Amino acid sequence: MTAPLLTSLAASGGDRPDALTVGGHRLSREELLGAAGAVAARIAGAPAVAVHASATSETVVAVVGALLAGVPAVPVPPDSGPAERDHILRDSGAALLLAGAAAEIAEVPVETVRVDPAERAEWSKAEPAPESAAFTLYTSGTTGAPKGVVISRRAVAADLDALADAWAWTAEDTLVHGLPLFHVHGLVLGVLGALRTGSRLVHTGRPTAAAYAAAGGSLYFGVPTVWNRVVQDPESARALSGARLLVSGSAPLPAPVFRDLERLTGQRPVERYGMTETLITVSTRADGERRPGSVGTPLPGIRTRIAAEEGAEVGELQLTGPTLFDGYLNRPEATSGCYTEDGWFRTGDIATVEPDGFHRIVGRASTDMIKSGGYRIGAGEIENALLDHPAVHEAAVVGAPHEDLGQQIVAYVVADGVTEQDLIDFVATQLSVHKRPRKVRFLDALPRNAMGKPQKKLLPPA
Ligand code: ATP
Ligand code: MG
Repeated sequence: MTAPLLTSLAASGGDRPDALTVGGHRLSREELLGAAGAVAARIAGAPAVAVHASATSETVVAVVGALLAGVPAVPVPPDSGPAERDHILRDSGAALLLAGAAAEIAEVPVETVRVDPAERAEWSKAEPAPESAAFTLYTSGTTGAPKGVVISRRAVAADLDALADAWAWTAEDTLVHGLPLFHVHGLVLGVLGALRTGSRLVHTGRPTAAAYAAAGGSLYFGVPTVWNRVVQDPESARALSGARLLVSGSAPLPAPVFRDLERLTGQRPVERYGMTETLITVSTRADGERRPGSVGTPLPGIRTRIAAEEGAEVGELQLTGPTLFDGYLNRPEATSGCYTEDGWFRTGDIATVEPDGFHRIVGRASTDMIKSGGYRIGAGEIENALLDHPAVHEAAVVGAPHEDLGQQIVAYVVADGVTEQDLIDFVATQLSVHKRPRKVRFLDALPRNAMGKPQKKLLPPA
């Protein structure tokens, strides 16, 4: 028999008044189960339920209630504009929108139901089947409109167990993070991971360096922009030196941030790679080596391969395993389009595998492979070279259409006290000459989404 998805809620014993703290609001596991039971009773039988996924305990109660009832949960970013929100509500087929008492919800096409963490009801129905859908999660929309990704309970359980193995994650841990609760990182790993392993959870509300430092955890999750903020605040960074594991993911962790974290905390961060469609599939391990720029080895149960053109070492990362999604909601063609003829999932990310099995993600096939003057160049390599210049704080590199070269390399940087020519020359000496940017544009900030992912489609024209 498969273990219940939220093992720690089913277990007796081991509870504490602050098993979960979200933005300062504390809940024991028993209180969470009682409040979620009340939600489950109200939504049972619905085809799907949307959740106004603010970083609050109401969101945790709503999602756990949906999981108890076996109703797929559809987290809606709390700051999404009306068009995005209505798209998610209609596309997902959600019958209701669950929201905390304080959430301001403008007109929506479905009924809004308020969630009260102080409510209690017993829920004694059996655990829904592992094949049933746990979530419809919408992708970040980095490359197009967000797509609804249907994820089974079995996939979630398999991924969390594989991560517990890789990170030696147990009930002894206190997990700390301040990530949004509407994506895999903050919600599936950051909430359900704690409820499955039984570790205490402190969600800091917002992911600031000071809040991370004050939380006193053993296991920390962050996206690269959060880790960058941490190393900009050396005192807070040093406060993390007692932690057991610092984990980064959702976007590439720049090598300078990796090195600063090591210098300030005395430990090398663990980096992991995943997608909404596959959950987390590759990671460095608690008991293994960690290298800047590397996401490590496949998690237990996952197999990977690189589909490279003959003779090339880089190519599309493809994978199979028990953590894969059931498909894009209402988009059978998009779903079948991401599988190869022999049934492997095509990630759309370009990667290489070193002889010892360590994976490096080079970038996305769609935005990060630049074809210039007959060369194929990965944007990430140039971004890393630019970030190694002491005056550069942020960098995004794209291929812009060019008559002669096909594409020319254009760099967008946030920097001070450095000229365009300085940076072009710097890259030309760090990498091969054909990898130097032809143009450098200076910005005050890179356009990023809630996860800190650079939004290359929002960059100004070259
Ligand atoms: P959309 O699919 O809507 O364009 P998205 O791909 O950003 O958006 P997610 O599923 O949240 O949506 O993100 C998955 C992607 O994030 C991966 O395909 C990969 O490009 C990137 N990614 C995640 N972790 C890492 C990492 N450690 N290093 C590099 N890239 C990463
Ligand atoms: Mg994607």
